[in-house]
Amino acid sequence: MIPGVRLVVLGKQGAGKGTQCVRLSHHYVVPHVSTGDMLRGEVKSKTPFGVRAQSMMDQGELLPDDLVMEMVGGRLAERDARGRGFVLDGCPRTTAQAKGLEEIVHPFGLDLVINLEIDTSLVMKRLASRRVCVDCGANYSTAAPPMVNWTCDVCGGEVVQREDDTEEAIERRLDLYEAETAPLIAWYSERDLLVPVNGTGSPDAVTRRVVGAIDTRRQIPRSLS
Ligand code: AMP
Repeated sequence: MIPGVRLVVLGKQGAGKGTQCVRLSHHYVVPHVSTGDMLRGEVKSKTPFGVRAQSMMDQGELLPDDLVMEMVGGRLAERDARGRGFVLDGCPRTTAQAKGLEEIVHPFGLDLVINLEIDTSLVMKRLASRRVCVDCGANYSTAAPPMVNWTCDVCGGEVVQREDDTEEAIERRLDLYEAETAPLIAWYSERDLLVPVNGTGSPDAVTRRVVGAIDTRRQIPRSLS
């Protein structure tokens, strides 16, 4: 039986986090916990929280740490995540969130933090051509569309360009990534949790690298790595 995992995946917007996290959640049989997907769900259902969150999300701004961490704490307290672990995608995005997560996962902690590395020039290209399913969040691109007329291959939902994949919002999100999220690389490195993985190449090649990195790392006692 494959052991579960308690994993965070970091990486710039467009680094391929969403695609890789879905694959990792299947591989390790743990839930894929994406704060972006959860928030888009709130927006779609027009909950009071979703209504307030929508304009900030469309502009590429970050939502308040306490609201996001409450949502994440609730999700990680569910039976599946407590039992086998999780692949956390899109969180933490700030040091305050990383500290909040430390409290949420105490006393077990995280197993690993993967940093998917990719050049900003590639990211801009990927984001401009990205298309997503409004229902299940599956990722496509203009170069690799769904099989039939922008209808999701997985769930039959409509496949569209995200509201925050405009040039302006992409720039804002990348700026926020550099200012707020990139410092987490050093933060997790100091805690001996960070594993950098090259995020360029085909999705299959990247998955092989990530799974290889996780499995190798799990065989090495922390004190020797
Ligand atoms: P994503 O799909 O991860 O790119 O997230 C889409 C948008 O949701 C972000 O641009 C933010 O507006 C919001 N968001 C997602 N995760 C977080 C988070 N951890 N902290 C704050 N805002 C978030």
